[in-house]
Amino acid sequence: MRAWIVDEPGPVASRPMRLVERPVPEPGSGELLVRVICCGVCRTDLHLAEGDLAPRAPGITPGHEVVGEVAATGPGAARFRPGDRVGVAWLAGTDGTCRYCRRGAENLCPASTYTGWDRHGGYAEYLTVADAFAHPLPGGFSDAELAPLLCAGIIGYRALRRAQVPPGGTLGIWGFGGSAHLAAQIAMGQGAEVHVFTRAPAARDLARSLGVASAQDSFDPAPAPLDSAIIFAPVGEVVPAALAALDRGGTCAIAGIYLTDIPSLNYDKHLFQERNLRSVTANTRGDAAEFLTLAQRLAIKVTTTPYPFDQAGKALADLAGDRIHGAGVLLINNAGTGG
Ligand SMILES: [Zn+2]
Ligand SMILES: [Zn+2]
Repeated sequence: MRAWIVDEPGPVASRPMRLVERPVPEPGSGELLVRVICCGVCRTDLHLAEGDLAPRAPGITPGHEVVGEVAATGPGAARFRPGDRVGVAWLAGTDGTCRYCRRGAENLCPASTYTGWDRHGGYAEYLTVADAFAHPLPGGFSDAELAPLLCAGIIGYRALRRAQVPPGGTLGIWGFGGSAHLAAQIAMGQGAEVHVFTRAPAARDLARSLGVASAQDSFDPAPAPLDSAIIFAPVGEVVPAALAALDRGGTCAIAGIYLTDIPSLNYDKHLFQERNLRSVTANTRGDAAEFLTLAQRLAIKVTTTPYPFDQAGKALADLAGDRIHGAGVLLINNAGTGG
């Protein structure tokens, strides 16, 4: 089978990924072999390729927004049958026994493993996944639309929960790509007034087309005091701007796995009056199930830009250059025109 690997992490212009031939993997005990239909392109893949996120295994295949079909089941894998459509997301495994797992915070498990970081991901024709960490997929979406739901969507949903938007409250969103455009729709579906801050004019147009209350440049003043903020842009400089825009008691959640350094904060201007600054770390399987149900029920609109499988490097370069409308999706086996 064909698979992309990250050989030597480096700037995306130096082409850090390489397309290789590798045997189709065998599903182990409790695992599924999944034939990949398509795989979303996430900013985390870019951070891995560029070395912002240290590789955990040499020659790893990125990709953790995988829509596929079960091709075979390993011993003891009983949740799915060959032919079932499944999603494979970022969280690939936990120990199930540590104090975080036992209190329902498996996203914090120190022994957790991740698709496309510890285990080979979906920039390939096949991958294996632990049966317990594969997701049943909701109806009402195309394969390409499902892909970004599996990371961008789930993480955005966890960030939204972490931002604690009060009923009918105001939410500011910094950065408006794959994750943000999904979280914004869930927030509006739940009654929030959403204000978007992004440097990309195309992203501001997308935000307006989805019905946000306002869309402006990253450092423009907020049109209203914000109860909550979510920072999707991997840019530490926007943290003080978001905190300054928060109303008393407001909460700012940083959604990304990677952020450039946050400039020094002024206590009075940025934190006093019980403003909260929180991070978001991965997600639980419960977040995933909740989000996929809500996405179907609220019929959220997913904007995707398709890329043929052999254009994965271009997809990452376009993501780095803010040139992707909505979420990029690699079409792999029998998905659209690029299989
Ligand atoms: Zn654990
Ligand atoms: Zn991701």
